[in-house]
Amino acid sequence: MIVGLTGGIGSGKTTVAKEFEKLGIPIYIADLEAKALMNRSKVIRRKLITLFGEDAYKNDSLNRPFIASKIFNDKELLHKMNNIVHPKVASHFKRWIKKQDAPYIIKEVAILFENDSYKQCDFIVTVTTDIEARIARVIKRDNSSREKVMAIIKNQLPEELKIKKSDFVIYNTDLEEIAKSVKSTHLKILKAIKKSKF
Ligand code: ATP
Repeated sequence: MIVGLTGGIGSGKTTVAKEFEKLGIPIYIADLEAKALMNRSKVIRRKLITLFGEDAYKNDSLNRPFIASKIFNDKELLHKMNNIVHPKVASHFKRWIKKQDAPYIIKEVAILFENDSYKQCDFIVTVTTDIEARIARVIKRDNSSREKVMAIIKNQLPEELKIKKSDFVIYNTDLEEIAKSVKSTHLKILKAIKKSKF
């Protein structure tokens, strides 16, 4: 079973995913795998250099600031990049999931609803928290600016809509509460899986 884990930027998806991992649930963080594949895959590298030019890579690694500056206001370029990277991540995920042995796996995808990957999920968990807390946490984590975080938030589906489309919601207000919320969501997921098999 695939449980999609989503939420807006800085909502705490990875923090929550790590709590599921502590319960023995395998986690797949799509953004991290995409980044790793962009560095590792020769095919992706060749195609990204064709798309962005030689500056796409620096010292053998993806030149992230350069790529980010190119795609920031260019949806078509972003779309083309996604068309190069997403199929490779999808096939990597297919190989990865075959090796897992657990009642379900957690697949963290920031843009689960925006890119239709929710369709492959059996259940969906949305992580949410107050927007001001999200902004403050991302500014602190990434040394970013309020404007940059707001621009990303504006490009994402509002959390209220994500919640409506989800089976479970985790409110990430307090780090100490997270372990408890994840444990109870884990039990609910196991119950729902059992029910779905009858
Ligand atoms: P992104 O969408 O950018 O990948 P995310 O949703 O995965 O972000 P995290 O990286 O888990 O979010 O959390 C964002 C930041 O906030 C991290 O630095 C994390 O340590 C911190 N954080 C997460 N939850 C809490 C909390 N309840 N209290 C304080 N800080 C938190």
